[in-house]
Amino acid sequence: MAGEPQADCLFCKIVAGDVPATVVRETETTVAFRDINPQAPTHVLVIPKVHYPDAASLAAAEPGIAGDVLREAGEVAAEEKSESYRIVFNTGAGAGQTVFHAHAHVLGGRGLQWPPG
Ligand code: 5GP
Ligand code: ZN
Repeated sequence: MAGEPQADCLFCKIVAGDVPATVVRETETTVAFRDINPQAPTHVLVIPKVHYPDAASLAAAEPGIAGDVLREAGEVAAEEKSESYRIVFNTGAGAGQTVFHAHAHVLGGRGLQWPPG
């Protein structure tokens, strides 16, 4: 069923507590944890607890939860005292997506180049 946990999904395992993560915030619908390979002083991933392969499919099926992910991204940045930050949703392997469970990267704590690579 859409949104159900997937046995082979790393982020579903983090939601279940089967893989450890440094969790910084949790809500009824989301978990935020530090990226294992940080690209900036603040690099936190915000994920929905439900499984969708990318941000757009999450938003199509569960717009309220997609909004929760964005709100939590802002809460993370505020907690990290990042006034300027970037929210990134890599979508598709060609754009650098490696984990196919929707997630927002929250990047901050340093100057960020625009346009990105
Ligand atoms: P993507 O490349 O799909 O946009 O982002 C996946 C992110 O997950 C990468 O930045 C990667 O460093 C992070 N990541 C991969 N495996 C783990 C893990 O086991 N724990 C944590 N905390 N982050 C992970
Ligand atoms: Zn998943």
